[in-house]
Amino acid sequence: MQEARLYERLEENRVRCALCAHRCVINEGQRGICHVRENRGGTLYTLVYGRLIAQHVDPVEKKPLYHFYPGSTAYSIATPGCNFRCRWCQNWEISQMPREQHLVLGRAVPPEEVVADARRAGSRRIAYTYTEPTIFFEYAYDTARIAHREGIHNTFVTNGYMTPEAVDTIDGYLDAATVDFKGSGDPDFYRSFCKVTNTGPIYQSLLEMKQKKIFIEITNLIVTGGGDSREAFLKLVRWIIDNLGSDVPLHILRFFPSYLYTSRPPPPVSFLEELWKISKSEGLKYVYLGNVPGHKYENTYCPRCNNLLIERFGFEVGSIRLKGRRCAFCDEEINVII
Ligand SMILES: [Zn+2]
Repeated sequence: MQEARLYERLEENRVRCALCAHRCVINEGQRGICHVRENRGGTLYTLVYGRLIAQHVDPVEKKPLYHFYPGSTAYSIATPGCNFRCRWCQNWEISQMPREQHLVLGRAVPPEEVVADARRAGSRRIAYTYTEPTIFFEYAYDTARIAHREGIHNTFVTNGYMTPEAVDTIDGYLDAATVDFKGSGDPDFYRSFCKVTNTGPIYQSLLEMKQKKIFIEITNLIVTGGGDSREAFLKLVRWIIDNLGSDVPLHILRFFPSYLYTSRPPPPVSFLEELWKISKSEGLKYVYLGNVPGHKYENTYCPRCNNLLIERFGFEVGSIRLKGRRCAFCDEEINVII
């Protein structure tokens, strides 16, 4: 078992974890909110180091990353556990396994082997995804360091609920991140649907990532019945523009019923289109609809001349009309890494 990083020892053998923004104070013999970090005799251990519960070769578009090596693949991995409890979680069987079943299953795979498997699969990127990479940070960190030595990029798909210390530690090894908002960051929604009382740290980690020049894309899941406020949506869009810039890609994702939240239908596509138009009229340059395969708003259009630059269908990429990082039609610089 691996000792955890980022925690401090307190009196009476307690510890305070500094990995995610919950900053759990954990008594001896207990685990944190994530249920995968345990205090044994005043030392904090991670229970998920090298415990691979999922590994797949995915298109980067599935993360989603639309502006980071479009059309390439990401070797995608996860361990069990999460620091959130989203009522609609699509991956609840693995994300909530430690909490609900008191199990931490997974195949023992050391970081070196993850990187070797990614190479064998022909992937130049590793995505830490499906569950929350923050809670398997030590494993992700060691894997990311080896990956970089081999010229492989690292990308987190995260709820953003990490500490500045965590972002600072992975700095230099994390190349890109998809940061996932739920219900446009509405604090009431996070409280009642995700068991998260303070959304401030998500914005804080985005600012940290921007400062460290980690490539950012943002997703926002629109959830029927609480996570679909227009007001919260507009607030989020304005925050992105003011703090991260108008060229950060925003993915408006359509919720589908799952896990504990199956009583409400997905939001109408017409409503998502309305949110798309709001985002564009506010000034965001690259806005997408997600989980609506075949929709024209899966494509990338030039923010200046409106020509189609990257064609997509679901996670498939069609033609790419760029000259380097510029629009092939009007020469506008596009926020894309290819
Ligand atoms: Zn153009």
